[in-house]
Amino acid sequence: MSQMKSIRGREIFTHDGYMYIFDAFNFNKTRKFWRCRYKNDCSCCIHTSTETSEVLKILNDHSHDSEAALIEANEAITYMKQRAKDSLEPTSSVINECTSGISQVAKVHNFYFDYFGMSN
Ligand SMILES: [Zn+2]
Repeated sequence: MSQMKSIRGREIFTHDGYMYIFDAFNFNKTRKFWRCRYKNDCSCCIHTSTETSEVLKILNDHSHDSEAALIEANEAITYMKQRAKDSLEPTSSVINECTSGISQVAKVHNFYFDYFGMSN
């Protein structure tokens, strides 16, 4: 379980190999409501605690497979971007180096472009 933030300002929450986009708070902001990122095709949503990020409730089943491998790769890229920033290496060279072992590179790049606005 982890949290990422996209540069479009929407929080992303990952749980059990699925990825969710922040939707809304409850009335007193103790809970966060998240929609599956395939919200047009999938009606699954989850509720988490604002304070602890613990998953409190899962509504509906996903209509698709989990994306554990994609999420793992995406977290690796988040880490790499941070590393690139720290080391002043060009981001693209760090990413090329670090993604050489990841099988879903193309898929990740597509996802990354969609959600984080990064192009190659
Ligand atoms: Zn779903």
